[in-house]
Amino acid sequence: MSVLDFEAVIGLEVHCQLSTRSKIFCSCPASPPAGVSVSSLQPNQNVCEVCCGHPGALPVMNAEAVRLAVRAGLAVGSRIRQASVFARKNYFYPDLPKGYQISQYDSAICEGGVVEIEVDGARKQARLRRIHLEEDAGKSVHEFGVTLVNLNRAGVPLIEIVGEPDLRTPEEAGDYLRELHAIVTTLGITDGNMQEGNFRCDANVSIRRKGSSPFGTRVEIKNVNSFRFVEKAIAFEIQRQVAVLSAGKVVVQETRLYDPQKDQTFSMRTKEEAEDYRYFPDPDLLPIVVPENWIEEERRAIPELPAQKRDRYRKDYLLPAQDTRLLTSSREWMQFFESVMASFVSTLPVDAFAKAAANLISGELSRLSHEAGLALESARVTPIHVARLVELLLGNQLSSTAAKKVLQLAWSSGDSVDVIVAREGLIQQNDAGALEPLVSAVLSENPQAVEELCSGKEKVLGFLVGLVMKKSKGRANPALIQDLIRKAVAATTQLES
Ligand SMILES: [Zn+2]
Repeated sequence: MSVLDFEAVIGLEVHCQLSTRSKIFCSCPASPPAGVSVSSLQPNQNVCEVCCGHPGALPVMNAEAVRLAVRAGLAVGSRIRQASVFARKNYFYPDLPKGYQISQYDSAICEGGVVEIEVDGARKQARLRRIHLEEDAGKSVHEFGVTLVNLNRAGVPLIEIVGEPDLRTPEEAGDYLRELHAIVTTLGITDGNMQEGNFRCDANVSIRRKGSSPFGTRVEIKNVNSFRFVEKAIAFEIQRQVAVLSAGKVVVQETRLYDPQKDQTFSMRTKEEAEDYRYFPDPDLLPIVVPENWIEEERRAIPELPAQKRDRYRKDYLLPAQDTRLLTSSREWMQFFESVMASFVSTLPVDAFAKAAANLISGELSRLSHEAGLALESARVTPIHVARLVELLLGNQLSSTAAKKVLQLAWSSGDSVDVIVAREGLIQQNDAGALEPLVSAVLSENPQAVEELCSGKEKVLGFLVGLVMKKSKGRANPALIQDLIRKAVAATTQLES
């Protein structure tokens, strides 16, 4: 049996930290002040009797967390439950001082809903089971040969977005997670910081023979906090389960962890059933009753969502799917692109302007931002830089090679495009007379390439254009060079024949 005989069944449970000022059941700060990293907080700095689980301390519901959960539910088409109930999920762990986590079980605040992803150009609806509110646990820190507990995170509000097992491939799971991340960050209900674990997921993975309908035994991969890792962890897990079944063994229901260094999952513990948690309604908390006017207010607070933006970019700017996907992958990319479009100069065609902007953003700018590990919001390159570059590009005043160079220089200096272009002498050379000597030099230095071009090997044309570009220090107009090379080669061919 091979992997092709099987189909994977994947469902994700996503934990997302809500951006409230205080924790979900007490007045402790839920996160460090703006600009301060979580790691610079003292351990157990943000704690009190309630989030430390002291006997007799009573939880008080944070209304803002309810509002944000409602907003999330409305954005994905969930039904908002008029009255929902908190339950105690009982288990023992050192970072859970109460001995139970306050969560929701059979009566969650949001029911149903759907996240739309695109698979091979077609739209696919991945259904949601529910979205529920819960508190986060603390963190065990293994250091100096001992385990220490930090409760700064205990009681931080989370929503858990529970997906139905509608996903079939690691790529679909990755796309679903990206889309959900783009939605919740666009809604402004979370900072979505994956390194800090503020947006993380558990993946339930099972396999079954193709064409059979019952689900196989599922394995849960816990706490994956990167889009790439979720795809790799699931891909590994599918291969592992295929190997287990092919060897005539059975898949064990268990919880596994993913090790990115080894690119493997390994067993953590056998999986608990819901009954093991002995859920029961929390007697210290009243049911959450969401007022009708809150639902209306939150509905109005929903901005244009990534899927709507994609449709608009396609319709208004004729951008291809690949571009719209990247531009709507997170709030920062969307905001950046839209600010560039806000500086659109009406004398240029809007679709050409959008396409050139999309190319610069998804190409060089995305590379620079990844390389520096710096968010676009904190970068020195602003939408004004990109808008001006696009203007020069479309006006044939700058080559795309030169535009990249300007972006690099602006990235490090923050200088304006015009200052950089003037300083570096990058204005595009559109004067055929000035370029002809460079073209003839390149052609005479590369007789073999010229011969190949004459015999119809079009591929070498790009190579020759590149050489002339290099000689011109990136200033030449590539389309013009191409013309000049063709003319020169045609002239030689005529002479020879
Ligand atoms: Zn507290």
